[in-house]
Amino acid sequence: MAEEQIVNFDEKSESLHYKCPSCGAALTFDPEKQALVCEHCGTEQKIEFDSDVKERSFEELFSAEGWKGDVKVIQCQNCGAREVLQKNQISATCPFCGSASVVEKDEMPGVKPDTVIPFKIDEEVAKKSCIKWLKGRFFSPSAFKKNIKLNGLKGCYVPVWTFDSDCLASYSGRLGRTRTRTVVINGKTTTQTYVEYFYVSGQMDGFYNDIYVSGSSSVNQKFVGKVQPFDINEYVRYDDKFLAGFMANHYDVQPLDAWKNAEQRIRNDFQTRIMNRYGASHVDFLDIKLSHVSKSFKYLMLPLYISAVKYKNKVYNQYTNGQTGKVAGKAPLSWLKIGLVSLLGIAAIVALYLLLM
Ligand SMILES: [Zn+2]
Ligand SMILES: [Zn+2]
Repeated sequence: MAEEQIVNFDEKSESLHYKCPSCGAALTFDPEKQALVCEHCGTEQKIEFDSDVKERSFEELFSAEGWKGDVKVIQCQNCGAREVLQKNQISATCPFCGSASVVEKDEMPGVKPDTVIPFKIDEEVAKKSCIKWLKGRFFSPSAFKKNIKLNGLKGCYVPVWTFDSDCLASYSGRLGRTRTRTVVINGKTTTQTYVEYFYVSGQMDGFYNDIYVSGSSSVNQKFVGKVQPFDINEYVRYDDKFLAGFMANHYDVQPLDAWKNAEQRIRNDFQTRIMNRYGASHVDFLDIKLSHVSKSFKYLMLPLYISAVKYKNKVYNQYTNGQTGKVAGKAPLSWLKIGLVSLLGIAAIVALYLLLM
């Protein structure tokens, strides 16, 4: 097919910004120096950090600036993950599965991120903390821990949509409270519980700040949650320079779908608050109309190192926080060890039982 082509290893660089002024080699973002550095001759180029990050107006969700010219989209043929790379960058392996069969896609990368938390620790530090984490997995097979080889580790910005809303809810419905009453049945007095329903209507306001919605289905959100926190004070305005030597996971959760998810969470929160207002425990029906007095969004990139290890033909991914080095993810499990520990647990319970007898 014409729309896909194998990434060409001698592809001509079209982006001149990130070439070393002294030797012409590629510059990459150095997390320790927080600057662009030439890997060939060591020349440093400062980056201007713009920390004046504003929320974007909602209309921009429909007309937001595309990410054009300087970046390309690649897709892994093995697991399907899509990444955004600088045009002049060569990607040999997929961070999620370690596969080298990566093709360039002829597609636009979509909305350009406006905010980024730059990487703070470098690849070597991330590798070390990831291997240390894997070695510390008690339930992993000893044979695996003896010789851990990462099947690649790559700095990858992970997309997150965040929404703010100053919101007014108009509601009407029928709610219920749990009540008790004393009744006499066959001459016996007993207490019964029942639900007393009543009609409600009114208004309530709320301000919602930074509701996070993941922008990617390739990244396991559970583990992104586990490597938090990220230092939100280090938000800066996005610049393509941060991508030099790194990848960005391509968002596949569309901005409007992300907003629907955020709005559903706002609605759920209002429902809880409205029920609390009346001390209600049951909902017969509750209609909540939201009007957003003002709403805005940010498209944020979080710094994560993504790595893969292969063990007995299975791939396990780890996620390392690019600011702090905190690791979470998957590791191979030894069923023998899990079995032994469960047996020991059972034995301990039996021993305790016999002792108490
Ligand atoms: Zn140079
Ligand atoms: Zn892959």
